[in-house]
Amino acid sequence: MRSTIRSRVLAALGIAVLSAVLAGCSSEEFPAGSTMARISDAETITVGVKYDQPLFGEIDAAGVPQGFDTEIARIIATELGVTEDGIAWVEAVSGERESMLAGGEVDIIVATYTMSSERKETVAFSGPYYVAGQSLLSRTDDASIASVADLAGKQVCSVAGSTASRTVQSLAPEANLALYPDYSSCVDALSEGIVDVVTTDDVILAGYAAESDGAFRLVGGNFTSEPYGVGIAHGDDEFREWINDVLDAAIEDGRWKAAWDDTAGSVLPDPQRPHLDRY
Ligand code: GLU
Repeated sequence: MRSTIRSRVLAALGIAVLSAVLAGCSSEEFPAGSTMARISDAETITVGVKYDQPLFGEIDAAGVPQGFDTEIARIIATELGVTEDGIAWVEAVSGERESMLAGGEVDIIVATYTMSSERKETVAFSGPYYVAGQSLLSRTDDASIASVADLAGKQVCSVAGSTASRTVQSLAPEANLALYPDYSSCVDALSEGIVDVVTTDDVILAGYAAESDGAFRLVGGNFTSEPYGVGIAHGDDEFREWINDVLDAAIEDGRWKAAWDDTAGSVLPDPQRPHLDRY
């Protein structure tokens, strides 16, 4: 008799503990009401990436974006319990990233996205997971451009809303700057002779150079530092720190390096280990 009462009390206690746990954590692992719990419960995540940048984010023959950025997004999705089928990829061109995050169109953006202090006023970033630097891409047969100092009077292409467009305006105010919606349009204009130079991050330009069969080359070295972050909604500190922890673990256990080796590492040298900026 006594043991029956005891087992009933224990069973009731067990149910009470279980419901407390379920009330506190909608997906067992994540705090109720958090972005992580929402995504994990829905088993789907909307990710903004580039569609036209070799090595970092480019659509493959099957229509799926591939690159180092998309691998970083896949690591985050996996940690949220979202499988490949649950990832809704969306193109995030440079000039639309902030508004896509502010409008809730995407959960995260992983798209060669520099963690600039100006952008931190409207969006938040986890990272950096890589640090690039701005450079120049010219036609290999054009010897007239060796550095940013040679851009006066030249037709220079960059992308609207990028840090690269801002920087080139201040470093080469005499250049004729054309702003296109994406970098592949700039590269088309370079091969057609409409522009003389494309400027953005070295790793983006290196991807186009590698695909150009020797037609294009990088010149002028790196003249900025571009720490790449995972963009999320402004003010979501819990999600920002959680992604930082995921990046930390991935850098530590080799998933970050494996993602690099499988993508950009086919063309680019091994990256320096990034130091997370837990602002
Ligand atoms: N990393 C720079 C930026 O976020 C240039 C590359 C890009 O436009 O995606 O603006």
